[in-house]
Amino acid sequence: MTIWLNGSLHDTDSARVSVLDHGLTVGDGVFETLKAVRGRPFALTRHLARLTASARALGLPEPDLDEIRRACTAVLDANPMPLGRLRITYTGGLAPLGSERGAARPTLVVAVAQTPPPVATAAVVTVPWTRNERGALAGIKSTSYGENVIALARAKAHGATEALLANTAGALCEGTASNVFVVLDGELHTPPLASGCLPGITRALVLEWAGAKETELPYDVLERAEEVFLTSTLRDVQAVRAVDGRELPAAPGPVTAKAARIFDEQSTADLDP
Ligand code: PLP
Repeated sequence: MTIWLNGSLHDTDSARVSVLDHGLTVGDGVFETLKAVRGRPFALTRHLARLTASARALGLPEPDLDEIRRACTAVLDANPMPLGRLRITYTGGLAPLGSERGAARPTLVVAVAQTPPPVATAAVVTVPWTRNERGALAGIKSTSYGENVIALARAKAHGATEALLANTAGALCEGTASNVFVVLDGELHTPPLASGCLPGITRALVLEWAGAKETELPYDVLERAEEVFLTSTLRDVQAVRAVDGRELPAAPGPVTAKAARIFDEQSTADLDP
């Protein structure tokens, strides 16, 4: 594989960043995962806007979006594949132990890996940990994803594929790597950004294209929802078939199937919506 590291292409095996990179030592970094369809990034402009917002929140230097666009093109040209997951990582760079992130140049890595088409359904679990909707990292796609790693491990231990979290107010928030939509009385709802969820790009597109209400929902709504689905770059619209072992009446149910169809049609028509 060929990756982009700080201005040029490298073989993955020979690309090197410092072992004292602030992203590695303290999680001082931000990232984006986006899909590439036949060599073209999907919704790149939106991903770059979110990366910039995340970088600003952490006080990282403004990312060079022209370089990142060139990097995505170069990496995709060097690694042709039908469906890829592109990963952009941007960190504080080398910071000697005991020092703050200094004048060091930030680290930029763009890598790609082939990915299979999304899996049709998910089984999810609820977890005892909460997302802090007022925390400094709320809504930020930072490389400090330890909480998500722990919650996902819990899901896997229960034979599920995703964990859904509440926020500190007890409201439904999001998954470890997904946003969540629920159907109640035939109507589609998703938690508002104030819940502390990541401003998911798939979530935003589903809101624009299929329509849904942004509603503060109690966590236990999952016990009575008629349908539940997850959204993310690598899932698109993914029907939930079970919550904590409770089978949902249908996966996908009619509302989910409609949202999935609309998303599919629109996203195929426009690769940079
Ligand atoms: N929420 C979290 C915590 C995520 O990490 C992700 C993506 O990985 C999402 C939601 C979905 O965002 P997107 O649709 O932009 O992939």
